[in-house]
Amino acid sequence: MEYAIIGGTGVYDPKLLSDVGSREVETPYGTIVVDTGTYEGVEVAFLPRHGKDHSVPPHKINYRANIWGLKALGVKRILATAAVGSINEAMQPGHFVIIDQFLDFTKSRVLTFFDDGDRGVVHVDVTEPYCPVIRAALIEVGRGLGITLHPTGTYVCVEGPRYESAAEIRAFRILGGDVVGMTNIPEAVLAREIGICYATMAMVTNMGAGMAKQPLSHDEVVEIMAVNTENVRRLALDTILRLAEEERQAVVSDEKHPDAGDRQRTADSDGKRASASDTTGTTSDGGKRTVGREVEQAVIGVAKLIDAGGESPIGAHDGQRDEAHESVRCSCGSNAVLWERMQK
Ligand SMILES: [Zn+2]
Repeated sequence: MEYAIIGGTGVYDPKLLSDVGSREVETPYGTIVVDTGTYEGVEVAFLPRHGKDHSVPPHKINYRANIWGLKALGVKRILATAAVGSINEAMQPGHFVIIDQFLDFTKSRVLTFFDDGDRGVVHVDVTEPYCPVIRAALIEVGRGLGITLHPTGTYVCVEGPRYESAAEIRAFRILGGDVVGMTNIPEAVLAREIGICYATMAMVTNMGAGMAKQPLSHDEVVEIMAVNTENVRRLALDTILRLAEEERQAVVSDEKHPDAGDRQRTADSDGKRASASDTTGTTSDGGKRTVGREVEQAVIGVAKLIDAGGESPIGAHDGQRDEAHESVRCSCGSNAVLWERMQK
């Protein structure tokens, strides 16, 4: 179960999926229920962020249980959806924003897995908070689908559950915000702490307080949501297929690559991780090679941890072009070493 979609409402359509099921996952923070299915051969987990019946307000969401539970299922990449208000005139209702930065204005939430000292003190790096690999795929797939899409944007996370005042919206615009929502923090940060690639496709549903010339009519909102739901579904699932295909190609490329043997050995030395990748849909040993790159990244993470004296800062750095694969790469998984620490 390598891929997950959080937000899920409207994306999870059993008609599109096969092997539809549901899994309960126990975590130190409570039990979560994850819907599962297979889309064109790729296993996908669906997690409704607000609970099955949308009963949990943004500031009460059990973010740590959600992210921990997905990690426990073996998820390596999360595509999150978020309905947002726009602060930027160019980002109109119905548009998508593949956010690349955030501003955190939350107030009362637990923001970390490392809050009690038992697991050490961790200051995770969020210079680039969202996975560049997933973002690149979302942008390319979205453009291919003809979706109106902004390739970058700064997400302002507010506490909620109330909406923003007009003065707050003006202030956020001055600070460089583009869209405003209530759920991306701490979700994105927890995913980084635990070593999962994470990106968000934000859908603009309305203009921020005080910006609209006239209030949106109910019919308009219903229409925008109907179009958005279909677009979100296609964008999310097609992006997952594209990422899965890129992984398959990387496996083939690794086989031709001079250091493929080294990667294979590295992967083999970590049987647990290799076996967790048997959902890649490639040959039986292909998954090991796929995970080899991640082990490699984890090793870099360990080295950084050692460099930093076991403390901060560790984590991802900018996405890099991989000359061998001609694709964007990331190091979001560097922090997977922290997951091992959390097991103790
Ligand atoms: Zn990543």
